[in-house]
Amino acid sequence: MTEYAGVGVCAGRVVGPVLAMAPPVSEPEQGAKFDKTATTAEAEAERIKQAASAVRDRLREASKNARVEAQAILQATAGMAADPSLRKGAVKLVTESGMTAERAVWESANTVAEKLAAMGDYMAERVNDINDVRGRVVAELRGEQPPGVPQSETPFILTAVDLAPADTALLDPEKVLALVTSGGGPQSHTAILARTLGLPAIVAAKGVTDIDSDTLVFVDGAAGTLTTEVGAEERQKAEQWKELQKNPLTFDGDGRLSDGYKVQLLANIGSAKDAKKAAAANAEGVGLFRTEFLFLDSKEEPTLKEQEKQYSDVFAEFPDRKVVVRTLDAGADKPLPFLTVDDEPNPALGVRGYRTHDDNPAVLTTQLTAIARAAFFNKAEVWVMAPMIATVGEAKDFVSMCEDAGLKRPGVMIEVPSAALCADKVLGPATFASIGTNDLTQYAMAADRMLGSLAELNDPWQPGVLRLVKATCDGAAVAGGGDPKLRPVGVCGEAAGDPALAVVLVGLGVASLSMTPRSLPAVARVLSTVDLAAVKEIAELALDQESAVDAKEAVRAKLPILEELGL
Ligand code: PEP
Ligand code: MG
Repeated sequence: MTEYAGVGVCAGRVVGPVLAMAPPVSEPEQGAKFDKTATTAEAEAERIKQAASAVRDRLREASKNARVEAQAILQATAGMAADPSLRKGAVKLVTESGMTAERAVWESANTVAEKLAAMGDYMAERVNDINDVRGRVVAELRGEQPPGVPQSETPFILTAVDLAPADTALLDPEKVLALVTSGGGPQSHTAILARTLGLPAIVAAKGVTDIDSDTLVFVDGAAGTLTTEVGAEERQKAEQWKELQKNPLTFDGDGRLSDGYKVQLLANIGSAKDAKKAAAANAEGVGLFRTEFLFLDSKEEPTLKEQEKQYSDVFAEFPDRKVVVRTLDAGADKPLPFLTVDDEPNPALGVRGYRTHDDNPAVLTTQLTAIARAAFFNKAEVWVMAPMIATVGEAKDFVSMCEDAGLKRPGVMIEVPSAALCADKVLGPATFASIGTNDLTQYAMAADRMLGSLAELNDPWQPGVLRLVKATCDGAAVAGGGDPKLRPVGVCGEAAGDPALAVVLVGLGVASLSMTPRSLPAVARVLSTVDLAAVKEIAELALDQESAVDAKEAVRAKLPILEELGL
């Protein structure tokens, strides 16, 4: 038997045959020229145009039947296939150098990719997309199967190194039982999509691509393991999971421990569309509205009116409910062309988040004014927080800007260890804190959150991270004069959606948890099985462990409900 271990990103237990992702399209021979006695440059150029159009049309067609989240990704990839610079570059190589259509497309795509890579950050991530298009057009020219997710009549477990956005978008949840990749990290595109779909998934599981297709395996998404020995026990676990899915958990909109202790369960959103879904999932409000998601493609700063409309559309979904708006968190993996500089050697440690406002104070003033105006015309209870606050001085300045704009609940995100350690002072001026465990983990562990190879370090179960959460809650209680309700602390990183970790966070003193709406039912159910004394004891237990793995194991052993629900 072989067991492969990675990072579980979405719970689920399934048995099924492996089907490996189609291998990438092989590179056409360097310097390959077309046979001038058999064809002409015009004919080769025509083949390129037709192949690019065919790929574009197929992706567009697929987008029509795709899930909502997938449509934009497919449209974007289709757009790249139709991109004139890719096609013109290839046609030029054919006509001027006599290259074969295949080689010309390959080289032209590489030139586009180099340009994107040089732009850095968000644009550099598009390199994967252009490479994906390159493979599709070359496969089309050769008359080969397109690269990517294999087609099968029967359900299968997909293994891959990682998935390109267009691949993930094309996943058919009816056919794909689980997804296991050897690369990718817990914050990767693949992981986020798997969570949105509720598809059992593991990332960073080294060696899984060596498993032969058709091998029967058992995948446990919560444990992060894939095993090639499928016995009676594994089959039973998979059956139990299937049974549980027939009556999926739901959330009634009121998060509480078993003794009635209140824990607000909120949603993370990036748009009004997300807000609608969150409201439909009975979220008690919004714990993180990532406003920068609205403007990732904007070259210019959005106007006051435009922003007011966008925020208003979100607030309208939550009358009389809390909506925590985060001011623009630009930089690192989310550059905004009108706000961030793109030539920093280490953008995650650079001018990002609240820091971008030093050189652009008017951008923050305009945003706060837009939020205040939208709040005035709606009934939502609007709270506002700044990302990446590191010092007491920054907290004071932000709070005073909020007050000037007429916003009554200013707060801070705790994502930088210094802010966690000085929470008693940072939460003097600020009225609440929300811990961004994704960034807090990457900064506490000095491990890039986007890197699959550092997934073990980049784990919010790390005792060092848990101690920073505790320091924040303890500091907030001091700032509130001993009453934690006066300076409530929430968590809005991915950690909040992990039901076992949610128990620990509440035990450490966290008052609200904000997550993708799909995670609400499981978190609510697990919290409802423990009382305040128990969560405190469990939190102490986690803090006392030497490693993330030990902490997780010790806590899971205290929560039998997790095993019962296959979480
Ligand atoms: C976080 O860092 O945990 C967080 C919620 O912010 P983001 O993931 O948007 O950086
Ligand atoms: Mg963050």
